[in-house]
Amino acid sequence: MILALLLALAPVSPDVGRRLLGGALADGVAYARLEELTDTIGPRLSGSPGAAAAVEWALAKFKQDGLAAHLEAVKVPHWVRGEERGEILPRPGVVGHPLALAALGNGVGGEVTGDVIEARSIQEIAALGEKARGKVLFLNHTMGTKGGYGDWVELRGRGPAAAANVGAAGVLLRSLATTSLRSPHTGVTLTGDGPLVPAAAISTEDAAQIHRLLQRGPVRVHFTLGCRMLPDADSANVVGEVRGREKPDEIVLLGAHLDSWDLADGANDDGAGVVMMMEAGRLIAQLPQAPRRTVRIVLFMNEENGSAGGKGYAAGHAAELGKHVAALEADAGAARPTAIQVHAAPGGAALLQPWLLPLETLGLSASDGDTGGADIGPLGLAGVPFVGVSVDGTHYFDIHHSAADTFDKIDPEALAKNAAAWAVTAYALAEMPQPLPRPAPEEPHRHAPDLPKAK
Ligand SMILES: [Zn+2]
Repeated sequence: MILALLLALAPVSPDVGRRLLGGALADGVAYARLEELTDTIGPRLSGSPGAAAAVEWALAKFKQDGLAAHLEAVKVPHWVRGEERGEILPRPGVVGHPLALAALGNGVGGEVTGDVIEARSIQEIAALGEKARGKVLFLNHTMGTKGGYGDWVELRGRGPAAAANVGAAGVLLRSLATTSLRSPHTGVTLTGDGPLVPAAAISTEDAAQIHRLLQRGPVRVHFTLGCRMLPDADSANVVGEVRGREKPDEIVLLGAHLDSWDLADGANDDGAGVVMMMEAGRLIAQLPQAPRRTVRIVLFMNEENGSAGGKGYAAGHAAELGKHVAALEADAGAARPTAIQVHAAPGGAALLQPWLLPLETLGLSASDGDTGGADIGPLGLAGVPFVGVSVDGTHYFDIHHSAADTFDKIDPEALAKNAAAWAVTAYALAEMPQPLPRPAPEEPHRHAPDLPKAK
């Protein structure tokens, strides 16, 4: 009785709530699309044929869904992996062992043989000085089942360049992972103007073995990486819009990234985000009446190894960022949604909450919190509020950036709930009379979990 009264008084009409929530939960469109994207197109690293095919695929889907769609060109780094292999060399009393390894993205290739020195921080690498010359630096850390990606991502981002600076011959990084079935987890490493050395992630099992063997005596490894950087490639962000009925120049941006790593089909990172945001757009486009403001879905290119799409969007749309009333990015996998986070000036979550009443059936409500994404990060400098659906992240880094990031890991029910949460949240932000109060402008890196922090 009280619930019925509440729903009758809720600002979102029951019909709209039913269409968005029911459509996302019952239609199965997002899941079917993710299967299509991952099985028929597959990996989508920037500059690859898969990335180009995904751009055309997404553009066609937007049009099919009734959105106004176009491409916005971006130049992207074009890095290719090539063949790679490595081994711990045998020595008297210890047999040799193959290494499960994967080159770090944007890094250089080459053949390396050398004795191993273990280091755990950028400071430790620098402190090695001359001792590192000609050696292979084994970058170890304590990321475990409880996570800690943010604490250690700097070691992947800046470790190889730091190792090259002290004359090391190569780098083997313990994968940034919460669990492993001997799968190496790749990820971008920063390449500045300084020297570079071949750098690869090794599985956590191999890392543990090197660490143990170092207690017995010297460890010597050999590895070959076939990766190289080709000239920048032409690519694009894919944009689909439902034009606002009253304030079409005010924009609610829904982002996800279309590119993925090359080791797998990237179902979690970020195929899931792509299909959730497409689903939000499809359902909003089907409403009898468009929301007050424009809902713009941007499928960014190159989040993984350069963020050219995110930077390009912010630069290309600089003049209208003051009219971006909120930016949302789905890039945290597709596990069970847990809450709606609002990063705005004080009062933002309270203002949004009544509009999220349809999500109470999923146990979701708004609270003030930290949210964002690597692609929308640059919009923070213009004071654009960020809103996000947070998910249970327990197992995200089990498969992140590894060959195990495949479609079979996706739970269709959780994916559908996420799509529903994004759809209702996007609609609410586009329909509520007053937009969220804008937060103080801030540095982009704060909301860029996939990128090493600038220091
Ligand atoms: Zn991602």
